[in-house]
Amino acid sequence: MATPITMTDRGRHARSWLGFVLGLLCLGAVHAATPLNGAWRDVRPGDTAQAVMNDYRLGLLKPFDPSVLQRFPVAAVGTWVVIAPQPPWDNGERVLTIYPPPLGTATVFGPDGPRSLALDDFSAPAHGHGRLAWRVPAAMAGSAPILLRFEPSSTLSAPVRFELQPWNDYLQQDAHWLTLASACLAVMLAMVLMALCFALMLRDVTYAWYAGYILCYMLIQGVQTGFVFHPLQWRWLSGLALTSATVAIALSVAFASLFMMRFCELQRHAPLLRVPVIALAVGMIQLVLMRLSHVPLLIEAAQILLNPLLLLGAVLMLVAAVVAGVRGSRQAWFFLAGWTPLLLLTALTSAQANGALPEFAWLNDASLAGGAFEAIVLSLGLADRALRLRQDRDVVRILADHDALTEVYNRRGWSERARVLLASGPPRPIAALFLDLDHFKLLNDRQGHSAGDQALVAVANALAHELRPGDLFGRYGGEEFVALLDSTQVEQAMHVATRLCRRVHRLELPAGDDASLLLSISIGVAMRRDGDDVDSLIERADQAMYTAKLNGRNRVCLYSVPKTAAGGAAAAPRLHVVEKRSGDS
Ligand code: GH3
Ligand code: MG
Ligand code: MG
Repeated sequence: MATPITMTDRGRHARSWLGFVLGLLCLGAVHAATPLNGAWRDVRPGDTAQAVMNDYRLGLLKPFDPSVLQRFPVAAVGTWVVIAPQPPWDNGERVLTIYPPPLGTATVFGPDGPRSLALDDFSAPAHGHGRLAWRVPAAMAGSAPILLRFEPSSTLSAPVRFELQPWNDYLQQDAHWLTLASACLAVMLAMVLMALCFALMLRDVTYAWYAGYILCYMLIQGVQTGFVFHPLQWRWLSGLALTSATVAIALSVAFASLFMMRFCELQRHAPLLRVPVIALAVGMIQLVLMRLSHVPLLIEAAQILLNPLLLLGAVLMLVAAVVAGVRGSRQAWFFLAGWTPLLLLTALTSAQANGALPEFAWLNDASLAGGAFEAIVLSLGLADRALRLRQDRDVVRILADHDALTEVYNRRGWSERARVLLASGPPRPIAALFLDLDHFKLLNDRQGHSAGDQALVAVANALAHELRPGDLFGRYGGEEFVALLDSTQVEQAMHVATRLCRRVHRLELPAGDDASLLLSISIGVAMRRDGDDVDSLIERADQAMYTAKLNGRNRVCLYSVPKTAAGGAAAAPRLHVVEKRSGDS
């Protein structure tokens, strides 16, 4: 039998979920590792592993704490590092990890001789996800110090921390990291694919810039964490890690600035800042070209220029987004909400690369989570943008189809719907009414144009209310209205038209100077015939209306073709008018 969930169970569930999430984010904190001491010195010409160990035992190396992030200087010849396990020693299966993984190569000197550790070394099965890992040979005593040499590399300045863990703990931690990284990258990839579909479907390049930006960010994270090597095993990227990371960083800024410019509507809200933002994108693309050129001078220049341009770009984009947001761009706030945490993390990571915040080892994993968070927030912003564009389009459509004064359909909106109505459904009687106000010019001349406008509004309201909701009613132009009555026989149509005529007369709007001449309307009625289109039907209703005018106004006339004696239509159709005054019953 199922046990009912109590409040205590719920609390426990919530706590275990919270623990899982925090565990994912604070990978280093959940496992007890062997306490370590560390020492380092620069590589000198003629150094041997034995000589370095001798120096270490003599205390000639500089001590450091391997459990917090440690930055070694960018040495032209590399750096020796000794990691010394402290009691209680663990003689079981152990793994030494270096986190985050440096992009260069490190060599570890074990009992089996030197072994090179590099992210793009696919022959090392113990390589971790998001870290360099070395499985300590069983022959090595738990207390034996481990000697490493970091090869010279321009990326050596990224700080690293060391951990010596039991094999099982390492596997568990590895699985946690893999879950976190896969989930974050999967979220980003989903958003990229969605954005690409939208870019194609909506023909809106904003989505394409967004997709490019997130894709580049994914590549940066993939290279920096080593995800592209383990587990993705992208062998073709071997040896290209540094180049691809630099190119992806520069391209991501170019895409981000182009995206931000359109997304935050800089043209509308901060036009002056648009130019520097475009210049930033162009500058970053230049940098990519320089980095990809095979000219050493250009490559070096690109590497030198990258960081200052990144800093400048970040400040520029921040200012532009804030200005756009303050000046009314709703999207700018979405941009800031998604992008600022990542900017903050990038700033903290840069500070860390310069030796600050050594305890914040979680920053690298937080950058992954921050990327997923940003992708979600910006996608919400894009969805909001699409919704707003649709609303704007709907408003424009309503404005385009409706008459601004009377708010009924205008000629365009009415004709479009009339065309659809005539073309749809089975053959059935459809009546067209053409309505024209009588002596309206007189009303305008005597009482002024604004009184004329008010009269038009009053008449349009009265007519619209008198008709059925399904009848198609609109203002055809000036003081002329039209109506299509679907599935309506001629008798019914004449009845409705007469009612409309009376209704306008009953409004008792004075048409002249005094109350003796009331505003009235003349209506022509025509029935749909085979082969009729909107124009031909309205043309006949208009002719019938004109006859109603000729016959004294304030009346209804039907357009019909008199039958010949043989019962067929006359050879040349003539206007045959059946009159009905609004006063007749
Ligand atoms: P009839 O009985 O023969 O139809 O005479 P009429 O004066 O109504 O016809 P005419 O076509 O000579 O004049 C129509 C007038 O409607 C002229 C024009 O100034 C006026 N009018 C057209 N559109 C508007 C409008 O939007 N507002 C106002 N106030 N007047 C309008
Ligand atoms: Mg008219
Ligand atoms: Mg008129």
